Amino acid sequence: MKYAFYGDYGEIQLPANYCEENPDFVLSFGGDGTMLQAIHKYVKQLSTIKFIGINTGKLGFYTDFITEDINMIFALTKSGKYDLFKIKIMEYELILKQDTIKGYAINDMALINPVSTQVMDVYINDRYFETIRGTGLLVSPPGGSTAYNRSLGGSIIDPWADVLQMTEVAPINNRIFHSLGSPLVLSGENHIELRPASTQNLYLTVDGREISYKNLTGIKITLSKASVSFVIKQDTSFFDRLQKAFLE
Ligand code: NAP
Ligand code: MN
Repeated sequence: MKYAFYGDYGEIQLPANYCEENPDFVLSFGGDGTMLQAIHKYVKQLSTIKFIGINTGKLGFYTDFITEDINMIFALTKSGKYDLFKIKIMEYELILKQDTIKGYAINDMALINPVSTQVMDVYINDRYFETIRGTGLLVSPPGGSTAYNRSLGGSIIDPWADVLQMTEVAPINNRIFHSLGSPLVLSGENHIELRPASTQNLYLTVDGREISYKNLTGIKITLSKASVSFVIKQDTSFFDRLQKAFLE
């Protein structure tokens, strides 16, 4: 078993079988933000790596353990007798004038204009669906449904459901302009394309990190075949996780 550490692990000693490039397990020390960055670092190796979240005082929806659990984590991973929690992720393609840029999102992708009314066309499966006017739009796979999506009134989705969710951010709905006005959950075979009318003041974020772009004409989003595996505390269901994060 090879391990890599990510985040602020403080005084904890690296194990003898530490392997930054090709680990079997990545231990992320921090909260969800740290975990999201750890996953991005190893996004091309998701089929062979399992992630373990060690919470250092944040919400930590993805982080089940604490620093004191470290020896137990080594023992558990060596024994092979651990429970896994899996989430599906999204793939995006930025369509630029000359080029395309591909990437993955674990929680979500947001297009936000905090300054002026953002106008954006939404295409579903290459067919025009609607034009949204407002602050922006968020698209998330099920694993991100408890994050920004939830703040926007989107539904919490069972993480293994094969769906994408699209949530509006402060849409303008009046006599002249209207959009769907409610979160839309689409099955995973569908693909979404967002075409902003202008990119002035338009922020594009992936998992809460800004992505810079030039000459953006559209963004294509699909549910990926790739998924992230987390080693979790034994007998913790998704509903236990929800209860702990939002109800206790
Ligand atoms: P952050 O500002 O620390 O995240 C906001 C909160 O969301 C934190 O408490 C974070 O947990 C929690 N969180 C992150 N992913 C989650 C998930 N899948 N389920 C439940 N809670 C989750 O920024 P961050 O830690 O880098 O996380 C990035 C995410 O922040 C983005 O992907 C986006 O979903 C979210 N965000 C939310 C808003 C909003 O709700 N208005 C605005 C911008 C971004 P920790 O405390 O453990 O970090
Ligand atoms: Mn955070």
